[in-house]
Amino acid sequence: MAKIYYENDANIELIRGKTIGVVGFGSQGHAHALNLRDNGMNVMVGLYPGSKSWQQAQQMGVRVGTVEEVAKEADIIMVLTPDQIQKQVYDESIGPALEEAGKGKMLMFAHGFNIHFNQIVPPSDVDVTMIAPKAPGHKVREFFTEGIGVPALIAVHQNASENAKELALAYGAGIGSAKAGIIETTFEEETETDLFGEQVVLCGGVTALVKTAFETLVQAGYQPEIAYFECMHELKLLVDMMHEGGMAYMRYSISDTAEYGDYTRGPKIIDDHVRQNMKQVLQNIRNGQFAREWIIENQAGRPSFNAMRRSEANHLIEQVGGDLRAMMPWLKKGKAEVEPSGQQPVASSQEPVAISQSEEPRTQNQEPAGQQPTALTESEEPIPLPGSRFAPPSAEGETPGAPATGPTGEPAKSPWYGSSGSGYSMPTDGQSTKEGETPPSA
Ligand code: NAP
Ligand code: MG
Repeated sequence: MAKIYYENDANIELIRGKTIGVVGFGSQGHAHALNLRDNGMNVMVGLYPGSKSWQQAQQMGVRVGTVEEVAKEADIIMVLTPDQIQKQVYDESIGPALEEAGKGKMLMFAHGFNIHFNQIVPPSDVDVTMIAPKAPGHKVREFFTEGIGVPALIAVHQNASENAKELALAYGAGIGSAKAGIIETTFEEETETDLFGEQVVLCGGVTALVKTAFETLVQAGYQPEIAYFECMHELKLLVDMMHEGGMAYMRYSISDTAEYGDYTRGPKIIDDHVRQNMKQVLQNIRNGQFAREWIIENQAGRPSFNAMRRSEANHLIEQVGGDLRAMMPWLKKGKAEVEPSGQQPVASSQEPVAISQSEEPRTQNQEPAGQQPTALTESEEPIPLPGSRFAPPSAEGETPGAPATGPTGEPAKSPWYGSSGSGYSMPTDGQSTKEGETPPSA
């Protein structure tokens, strides 16, 4: 069983006299800085000149300086910039201060990627530890103000002071996590499981599952709006129940028909072939191949990442979902939280065609004979590309700038990825329609 530390195991007094430098004031940074401050700690936030958060942190009563100043002055330096720029921030602004006078200081992280994959190699006389809250930063802050904590992970990479774990525990208590429990792990375990979870289930697995199911229904002639509700919208309701009471609670709540389908059909979708793929993904994480690819992608200025981001934002499910969510004003809160961050890419039809995993020809799962639920005719076909009978409609329904193949013959864009705009272009057998189009007789 995992070792878990609580408030009685942590002595917050160990860090009270020290200067705690929190580098970054984003999701995690603002929560750590404010929680520590509210616990009476001496906190300083490190940012770059021109950061939009500089003034905000000051207005919240936190002292702000450059990262260089923080690296010199602070006894504990928690690095909470985005992972992909931590190496640069460390090399330019933190490393030199630690090389010069790092003895006795502690360098901290909330995710192990850069230490585990050797992007940051601190001097050996510095403590290197992790406190990784298992919640988004805004929850770390919100729960703290309500007197609750969020669980966190603790790990020690370098124990130069021979007191590194106790100091890290004190920090964990300082942000409120000792109230909930701080679970011991290693940089290796945290990094590899974190990447695996987000790739296979939380982000990659779920989006690919939802999109593939949505495409299957639409291609079989069902209305995309209905497919959206069945394959995406309702997901949250079930996930919430699993989150609160496990799979048993979710299964207690659903109908027996749904539960029977769950037991008998689930394992046919997530079959041994998927298990093999998961093992492959894990192997790529463990052998550093994923890290290498992502580091190089960033060094190159993220050409593939940006192209995939644009392309994914234009998937039919996003267009349909956008319209449907507009009918559900109670969902606007979450949307408002997403948009100001500038994460949402602006769709452009001029962009190079991104080939994401899901656009590649699908491998057919082998279906055991005689075990199929009522088959939907033609739904098993690979998705036809534009230029076929599923070409985008012309005139007002036209999807601008999405040719089947580019002028130089680059790969055809999947019909599921239109450009944003009114009117869906539907690669369907049954021809779904929107807004006044005349449905063809089936
Ligand atoms: P974030 O929200 O993107 O915030 C990053 C912060 O770093 C921003 O305040 C940003 O400044 C600042 N920054 C950017 N470049 C900088 C530079 N050159 N020098 C100094 N500051 C710079 O990041 P995050 O999501 O909190 O992630 C931080 C760390 O926490 C990562 O290691 C991540 O893996 C880990 N983590 C995150 C979560 C989460 O919920 N997000 C959960 C667990 C662990 P501006 O304000 O000007 O943009
Ligand atoms: Mg994670």
